[in-house]
Amino acid sequence: MSDTSADLVILGGGSGGYAAAFRAAELGLSVTLIEKDKLGGTCLHRGCIPTKALLHAAEVADETRDAESVGVKAAFEGIDIAGVNKYKDGIVARLYKGLQGLAKAHKVNLVEGTGRFVGGTTVEVDGTRYTGKNVILATGSYSRSLPGLELGGRIIASEQALTLDYVPKKVVVLGGGVIGVEFASVWASFGVDVTVVEALPRLVPNEDEFASKQLERAFRRRKITFKTGVKFTGAKQDDNGVSVSLESGETLEADLLLVAVGRGPNSAGHGYEEAGVKIDRGFVLTDDRLRTNLPNVYAVGDIVPGLQLAHRGFQQGIFVAEEIAGLNPRVIDERGIPRVTYSHPEVASVGLTEAQAKEKYGSDVTTFTYDLGGNGKSQILKTSGGVKLVKAPDGPVVGVHMVGDRVGELIGEAQLIYSWEAFPEDVAPLIHAHPTQTEALGEAFLALAGKPLHVHS
Ligand SMILES: Cc1cc2nc3c(=O)[nH]c(=O)nc-3n(C[C@H](O)[C@H](O)[C@H](O)COP(=O)(O)OP(=O)(O)OC[C@H]3O[C@@H](n4cnc5c(N)ncnc54)[C@H](O)[C@@H]3O)c2cc1C
Repeated sequence: MSDTSADLVILGGGSGGYAAAFRAAELGLSVTLIEKDKLGGTCLHRGCIPTKALLHAAEVADETRDAESVGVKAAFEGIDIAGVNKYKDGIVARLYKGLQGLAKAHKVNLVEGTGRFVGGTTVEVDGTRYTGKNVILATGSYSRSLPGLELGGRIIASEQALTLDYVPKKVVVLGGGVIGVEFASVWASFGVDVTVVEALPRLVPNEDEFASKQLERAFRRRKITFKTGVKFTGAKQDDNGVSVSLESGETLEADLLLVAVGRGPNSAGHGYEEAGVKIDRGFVLTDDRLRTNLPNVYAVGDIVPGLQLAHRGFQQGIFVAEEIAGLNPRVIDERGIPRVTYSHPEVASVGLTEAQAKEKYGSDVTTFTYDLGGNGKSQILKTSGGVKLVKAPDGPVVGVHMVGDRVGELIGEAQLIYSWEAFPEDVAPLIHAHPTQTEALGEAFLALAGKPLHVHS
């Protein structure tokens, strides 16, 4: 058995793993990155990027249908799914090529193969042992199902939904979280009859109630059916379709059932437990400096409990690389991680919901909601929704929640405001270009600072 050593050995080349690799290389460390599939992981190949390409194609379809309302002559003739897939796959391929180039430029030793953590700081791949001064576990996550619900055939997860070579007529989406809502949005724009089933009382249940209400209103307008507070009890499929039973006694018939009930940590079968890594319900436990219970063994990304988002993985990867290099980076504030659901309309948020703020600060929490109806650019784009601010008593703004087309692009400013613990009076004097949707944030802060401009009292 041969043995190869490096400053840092990383198991898994997704968002968390490759970010750690690149930052560590920038800091002069020698890095071995082990990946069994494709560099870039879920986000690039089966997650963020392909779904957003589909959502863009969906947006173009909607705009085409609606062209006449702005005086443009165009006729929507349908979806050429081969063309959509070519566009989507082209973007992924270009970014993948770029990422491979970056790995090369950083002189990362990319090892292709399935790795197994064998304890200490060593990972074994096909009989070769790679030992680092430090190891990072970054094996990501997989699409979960429900007990008794087996994926296969017409019962699919997001991976299969991304590679369909036809547009189904009718789909049931199990799960009204981010992934379920995004696919529901795409399919509805593609002309599919969609029903979302969510066991919790509202769509995007992790968001502020305001956001759920706004999204549900928009989905109703778009004729996307959703059934909230209803449990799924079973599904049967045959050559003709899938029939989905609900606790209410109702049965839904469809061509496909998309199971979007969350993602489980991919921590089994890689030697973690055998080597003594502390695991809880499959998640690798770390402290806030992302150290596992074993010396010099870190974990990043979706296998660590918390938000399963690519940019969290990037930030954690960068953090650990800097920690190992002795830069003593600042602990990541999980609440300061921006969250965006890229449906039509989008939902974007950072910080605490009103309910969480009240739990933390008591009932004196203040909120202000600015309606996009008063925002010129949103009117031009024909989108509705709003911006809601949540402010601690005698304190800064601790939560920003937005709904509307393109509001995901405003989350950068919202994150700065949250992270700087800004008071409304700090933000109110900042000028927002007119007419932009950023003005909606500006208006909300003006109003909270007691000097509203375009707000009806
Ligand atoms: C449909 C969908 C849409 C999404 N959209 C967004 C979005 O818009 N924005 C966002 O921020 N996040 C989004 N996400 C989440 C995002 O993709 C994940 O948070 C992110 O990919 C997690 O990164 P990671 O490095 O932890 O894991 P992954 O990206 O899953 O990478 C883990 C890597 O480890 C490799 N691996 C696993 N085991 C081994 C082994 N034993 N040996 C070698 N290699 C191994 C895998 O092949 C994989 O490449 C989406 C996810 C899905 C499924």
